[in-house]
Amino acid sequence: MISNARSAYQVHDHQRCIDAALNRARQCCAAANARLTPIRETVLLLIWKSHKPLGAYSIVEQLPALTGKRIQPPSVYRAIEFLLELRLIHRIPSLNAFIGCPFPGSEHSDVFMVCRQCGSAAEVSADNLNQLIAETTHKAGFQLESQTVEVSGLCLACNPETPH
Ligand SMILES: [Zn+2]
Ligand SMILES: [Zn+2]
Ligand SMILES: [Zn+2]
Repeated sequence: MISNARSAYQVHDHQRCIDAALNRARQCCAAANARLTPIRETVLLLIWKSHKPLGAYSIVEQLPALTGKRIQPPSVYRAIEFLLELRLIHRIPSLNAFIGCPFPGSEHSDVFMVCRQCGSAAEVSADNLNQLIAETTHKAGFQLESQTVEVSGLCLACNPETPH
């Protein structure tokens, strides 16, 4: 099982998350023979600004502060599409918002724990869950193409029962 669940919710040096995400993005792009253009990189950085999922509209709104110029929404959406395709980010359906993937380039099960109080989302993955979903959908004669599992509740930081 792989997880960024604890680090996402505890006080931490988030710049390290950002640096690591950028390094992984460069590796993934090199492996896929794709280019991390300035706009793609800036959109990725913006999404990684926090562990809270960010909607497309907010990305369009917040980009000028980083780039110093207004970028047309279609260009922003294309950058988002690119990042989704390379699985550097994921879309959280219930929020219609995007979150950086802490482990791109690896097979994983896209399970998101979304905190109903602070809005953070942390990703966890379990191999046996992938297998279970694949088997169950196959039995139903369904051709699985993508999956996202969301659970809602209280994160470590928001749960009053968390020992501090
Ligand atoms: Zn972080
Ligand atoms: Zn992921
Ligand atoms: Zn929370």
